Amino acid sequence: MNHRTSRLPGTGRTLQPAEKREIKQRGVLLSAPGFVLLLAALVVYRSAGVTDASWGAIAWLAGATAVEVGLMWWIARAGWTESFSWDPDFIYVPLVGAALLLGSYLLVVPEARDVLLVAWFVALLFGAGMLGLRGVMYLGTIMTVIYVGTVALHVRHGGTIEPAREAIRIGLLVGVHGFAGLVFRRLRQSRQEKRTLRKELEREAVTDPLTGLYNRRFLMERLRSEVDSLERYGGECSVVMLDLDHFKRYNDSHGHVAGDEVLEQLARVCVNAARDADVVARYGGEEFTLVLPDTPWREGVEAAERLRRAVEGAAFEGAEVLPRGRLTVSLGVAGYPDHATSADGLIQMADRALYRAKEAGRNCVRAASETQLSFGSMDGSVSPTRSDGEA
Ligand code: GH3
Ligand code: MG
Ligand code: MG
Repeated sequence: MNHRTSRLPGTGRTLQPAEKREIKQRGVLLSAPGFVLLLAALVVYRSAGVTDASWGAIAWLAGATAVEVGLMWWIARAGWTESFSWDPDFIYVPLVGAALLLGSYLLVVPEARDVLLVAWFVALLFGAGMLGLRGVMYLGTIMTVIYVGTVALHVRHGGTIEPAREAIRIGLLVGVHGFAGLVFRRLRQSRQEKRTLRKELEREAVTDPLTGLYNRRFLMERLRSEVDSLERYGGECSVVMLDLDHFKRYNDSHGHVAGDEVLEQLARVCVNAARDADVVARYGGEEFTLVLPDTPWREGVEAAERLRRAVEGAAFEGAEVLPRGRLTVSLGVAGYPDHATSADGLIQMADRALYRAKEAGRNCVRAASETQLSFGSMDGSVSPTRSDGEA
């Protein structure tokens, strides 16, 4: 099944870098009202005479806050952290910035430390779902060091503290970080589980359960978008329709379960014979379809012939009951824009060419055009022939 999963492109919509940057910018802007609220609290402390911090110092804090928020916004806008493996989600940089800012608030208005510690835990919530236990502990250590540092500076400059209360605060700081870390880890796990589940659902929606190839719905979607882009930018592509020869006989002899195994093996042969850019799908029953991007139909015929030979050369268990003693396929090829200019038209033309390959004796390739190189082979040789006309 690996061949299939490695081929599945990200079918779920992924965010463009510009969108990611916008989300980060919005996150930074969301922090601004929080800081404004905190500064307002400091103003209240000062007005009520709870602190003797000067108005000038509080104005300085307001300026520092504006600079910090502006800087973070600018970093998010420039997309700097996208290339940092340690902070691709832009969580650590703003939170360390916030911790430093809160540290400066603590220095200027030490009386507001309880409010500031609560503010820190609110800031930490920005990382919920992204930070794990370890991330919270890193940030918790930084904040605790900042807190202890500001208390020490406060004491050094003649301020007074109550050691027991400070010990309780620091204990709380450590304890709440530990608890928050555990909760965040759970949140992150559930976020990852959801993401995995969504990816799995997206994968299932485009996959044929038996063979692991793309299903018909995905094939048509891809073919339509391929045609759209060819219409806009020019270029060519080929569609190959493949049908097992005398498969009913195989089923009748060995049963449907063995028939299903043949389909699985055939899928692997097709995937191995195809290029990475090709889309290999199960169109239905024992019919597979390939979309070959950037491939003029003549090259598509060559690719189909390679595929035919690969199937003919592969050992399928129980194939001796088939007329040639081997499992073989017939293939029809149609190309954009020579044979059709729509997805449905290309499928139809490839299907008609396949019908003619069956008529021509099976185990061969036919293209949809009137005059063309077609590969016919009873013995594996490749010979240019003129196929019958396609109206
Ligand atoms: P030919 O294509 O060469 O004309 O002969 P055929 O016997 O293959 O005829 P046709 O394509 O019309 O028949 C398709 C057969 O493929 C019918 C059915 O037994 C078998 N088949 C279709 N889908 C499945 C499937 O999912 N599993 C199994 N085991 N067999 C399938
Ligand atoms: Mg069929
Ligand atoms: Mg068949």
